[in-house]
Amino acid sequence: MRFIPGLLLSAALLTATPMALAEERTAFERQAREIYQTAVEIRTAKGQSKVPELVDYLVSELKTGGFADSDILVTDHESGGEPVQGLMVWYRAEGTASEKPIVLLAHMDVVDALPDTWVRYPFELIEEDGYFFGRGTADNKYGVTSLIATFLRLKAEGFKPNRDLVIVLSGDEETGMISTRAQAEYTAANIDPAYVLNADAGGVSLDMDGNALFYGVQGAEKTYATFELTVSNPGGHSSAPRADNAIYELADALKQIEAYKFPVMSSPLTRASLKMAGAQTPGDLGKAMLAFADNPGDEAAIAVLRADPSTAGTTGTTCVATLLRAGHAENALPQRATATVNCRIFPGVGIAATEQALKDVIGNEGVAFKLISDLVESPESELPDEVMAAVGKALAARGMEGLTIFPSMSSGGTDGMFYRNLGYDTLGIGGGAAKPNDTFAHGLNERMLVDAFYGGLDHWYIILKDLAGAD
Ligand SMILES: [Zn+2]
Repeated sequence: MRFIPGLLLSAALLTATPMALAEERTAFERQAREIYQTAVEIRTAKGQSKVPELVDYLVSELKTGGFADSDILVTDHESGGEPVQGLMVWYRAEGTASEKPIVLLAHMDVVDALPDTWVRYPFELIEEDGYFFGRGTADNKYGVTSLIATFLRLKAEGFKPNRDLVIVLSGDEETGMISTRAQAEYTAANIDPAYVLNADAGGVSLDMDGNALFYGVQGAEKTYATFELTVSNPGGHSSAPRADNAIYELADALKQIEAYKFPVMSSPLTRASLKMAGAQTPGDLGKAMLAFADNPGDEAAIAVLRADPSTAGTTGTTCVATLLRAGHAENALPQRATATVNCRIFPGVGIAATEQALKDVIGNEGVAFKLISDLVESPESELPDEVMAAVGKALAARGMEGLTIFPSMSSGGTDGMFYRNLGYDTLGIGGGAAKPNDTFAHGLNERMLVDAFYGGLDHWYIILKDLAGAD
């Protein structure tokens, strides 16, 4: 592992003072900041019907930047009773393409934010204390901005790629993923890319002092599945309690799930990921990561990893109760009790097998199962050498030559799952950088380091020129 002091003070930036940097922002950087500000300040959250407004803005920027109508496809969808849109943009190969296309993902929607719970108004881009604050500054308006701004930059420079580059922006990644599913199917039928690169995952991990520790490439994501478990009962008057009770029966089932340990799972990707993470994680946790990477049968290591929330999901499937509702009256025996159980399923295991495992654990046919999430299973992706090499070049150009790049499996879901499910290697290689737990994505006071914002803009520029540049 190479330790890179002061991540963002790349060679080029070492001499410039912050004030000088601000004044010396290039025209491109100023344009990118403007796109970012406009995108963050459009409240593209569920129930606001604002995604079309962001689409209109991006389309007008693209047309001003030289993209033709025929290079832009806006699609209309309905998600959760609300109109959302998807946006696809082609940067076409010069002449006959010599390589298969590359698809680039990001999403335009955000998880909503309640202004009175934030320190600053969440739908205004506020630059303060070295951060950009606002909903979506990390997840995922930065991805949208860096991809669109890079296309505009390349177009302005007259870049002539040897393959089609296609940006695919979904409009409901945080909710129904209806636009995502349609775009993925369209992509398979009409684009058939060599692979898919996702700006909504991956990035540079910093220590608390802002030093670059490693670059994570998301090569897999666990399958997100949610079940409702329901126990029904004839009920009756609460003054005449019986042995059978819907709430107790459901509680027994949940206690079984709580105690159940899913089989230990590992893959070349998760072992590589734990081996690299273990090398820089102090204490017993680091030791356990290394031990497990070396031997996935190491019981002691498994126990340590499964006891720590940050690694609990790396060695297999997890399922946890998240919601409960039961009963209909204070003085009546409950006729129905329902629990929501959210699972993060290890790639390759499958939703049906997980449901069966839970049923076997509970051993009570009186507990009815209903799958309430409608997502897809996605296998692990291969990591094409040319992409890993291009990421390395981008990091070197940002002053992080030799930074450890390691693959990771995320427990959270992204649009990428639909492309993996259709057989496309999908890599999360975002250009962002963050300190541990410093983005607050989905949470209060979401932020992005200002230096990371500007530093990451070159990320996609260098990667796309490397992957699509004529030899
Ligand atoms: Zn996201």
